[in-house]
Amino acid sequence: MKGESYLFVVSGPSGVGKDSVMTCLRQAHPEIEKTISATTRPPRAGEAEGVNYYYRTEEAFRQLAAQGQILESNRYNGYLYGTLRAEVERRMAAGKLTLLNIDVHGAANIKRLYPGATIVFLLPPTFEVLEQRLRGRGTDSEEAIRRRLDIAREELGHAGEFDAWIVNHTLEQAAGELYRLMAHKVDRT
Ligand code: 5GP
Repeated sequence: MKGESYLFVVSGPSGVGKDSVMTCLRQAHPEIEKTISATTRPPRAGEAEGVNYYYRTEEAFRQLAAQGQILESNRYNGYLYGTLRAEVERRMAAGKLTLLNIDVHGAANIKRLYPGATIVFLLPPTFEVLEQRLRGRGTDSEEAIRRRLDIAREELGHAGEFDAWIVNHTLEQAAGELYRLMAHKVDRT
């Protein structure tokens, strides 16, 4: 489907800066949209319903899945996260450049569903930088940070399965590279 080439999944370990890079890119290019996922994780300070996620109970999440409203989902650090079908399909149908921020397993699932999508792996300059960024966020407990670091090690092992890779040295550089990649892909289709 032609609309698939408008889909770009940004994946990579927690703390690598996926949200920040996507926000930086969307500030420069407001025409680019991002999908909002459903999750059973409680909101962090500063997060809001319908802005960062749709926050749902496990039961409500399962209901959405049973109704076929969830395209792919994964349990991450004890919580469910899922891409809502409507969030993706309406943007594809309208031909909007669309970003999805999902974990590495979700990225592979989206690629299976939409082979024309581009899955991008965002890498930290080093593992130590990733650890500093996770701690610097100040939003997670020490235990949660350790679990996220363990998951990050596993996730980094999947980098080879992606279509493109960007190292997040600075937000502007990573957002710029992501934009060039998107523009190039869409120009060719
Ligand atoms: P966080 O709790 O830091 O917001 O997100 C934890 C992880 O879940 C991140 O790696 C994020 O990319 C991933 N994630 C967010 N939404 C989705 C989704 O809809 N599907 C999947 N598979 N992963 C998601």
